[in-house]
Amino acid sequence: MYHHLKKLMYTVRIGTPDPKFGKMLLEQFGGANGELAAAMQYSIQGLNCDDPGRKDLLMDIGTEELSHLEVVGTLARMHLKPMKHERTAAEADPLIAIVGGGGVSLNNSAGNPWTADYLKISGQLEVDLRNNIAAEARAKITYENLIHFTDDPGTIDALNFLMTREITHMKAFAFALDSLGRTPFSIGELPPNPEWVNKYFNDSTGTGDNGENDERGPWNQGDDWEYVQSPEVEAFKAGAAANGGVRRPVTAEAAKAGKK
Ligand code: MN
Ligand code: MN
Repeated sequence: MYHHLKKLMYTVRIGTPDPKFGKMLLEQFGGANGELAAAMQYSIQGLNCDDPGRKDLLMDIGTEELSHLEVVGTLARMHLKPMKHERTAAEADPLIAIVGGGGVSLNNSAGNPWTADYLKISGQLEVDLRNNIAAEARAKITYENLIHFTDDPGTIDALNFLMTREITHMKAFAFALDSLGRTPFSIGELPPNPEWVNKYFNDSTGTGDNGENDERGPWNQGDDWEYVQSPEVEAFKAGAAANGGVRRPVTAEAAKAGKK
């Protein structure tokens, strides 16, 4: 069951309202990486989870995300409020001003409605936890981007708190994943086919005039990797080298003179 305490998780104060920034903040209210999406993703994963420890984790963080929704919604509302009565403010977004009366709604910063399509719920715990680690990373960077677009100290303070909590959640999800005791590439129940699993296909050209310099690193060499060349890429490199290099970009002058 849910209870509601009329107290914010983090106190929000702002200076001068900035309706255009308020609209940007809606990205974290009704957007793909926003707080409603996080709250719903973790809580619904929790309903599907049979492991008592991880279920508790999912419900704890899902519930905290609802508190974040309340904080970011309160913050956005403070910035949007002048849109209700002030013509200049209303011009920041007529939809919010005229249809929404300068209030928050479950839309993203472009006015698109929230959708359950944002949620990643797989019914497989190690997959869900990986999705959640990625979701927290996206939420963190969205807050970071928002912080870059305001100078208001109170707004930055609240956003910094919300951004910080996403790293805390990422840490909890990462440890929960690790504690499942599965090897890093063990997903689901069926093992991968050993004939194919360690083959790295070099399917794109590298750097250099003829694409000859393929990049190598731990993602394609060492360990059990087998580096497999693509016949098409090799043929391209050979052909380009034989022609004295790949086609050069057409300069503006050459294009004007009708040259290719
Ligand atoms: Mn959050
Ligand atoms: Mn979070």
